[in-house]
Amino acid sequence: MDQMDQMDQKKTIMHIEDNFDNRMLIRRLLQSDGYDVLEAENATNALKILQTTRPDLILMDINMPDIDGYTLTNYLKNQETTANIPILAITANVMRGDREKTFAAGCDGYIEKPIDIDDFLERIAWYTRRAD
Ligand code: MN
Repeated sequence: MDQMDQMDQKKTIMHIEDNFDNRMLIRRLLQSDGYDVLEAENATNALKILQTTRPDLILMDINMPDIDGYTLTNYLKNQETTANIPILAITANVMRGDREKTFAAGCDGYIEKPIDIDDFLERIAWYTRRAD
C-alpha cells in the first residue's frame, strides 16, 4: 500500500480486559495516538464482537473472571477467522514462567504492567504495521 492509503487507514485495536480503569488508560493512550479502540470486558463479550469484526491487533488481559487470557488466546489462534490477528498479552503477572506461558498459548508478545507509555506505543505501531 502507498503512503496515502496508510495515512487514511486507521488501525483498530481490541482490548480485552475486565478492569475499567485499565481499559480507560489504554483507550486514552491509543486514541490519542490515532487508533480506533474496541473494548471487551470479558472473554464472552470478546468472542461475540469477533464474530463480526476483525481488529488489526488484540491486547489481551490474562486474569479475567470468565475465561483466562491464555485459554482465550489459544482458542482464537486455533480459529480460522482469528488465527492471523496478532495478540499481545498485558499482565501484571511477573512470575518466572509467565512469559513462556503466554507464548505457549500463542501470544505474539508480552507487555508487563505497569505500562511504559513510550515503549507501549512503539510496540503497538510495530505489531499493527506487521498486520498489513
Ligand atoms: Mn484482569
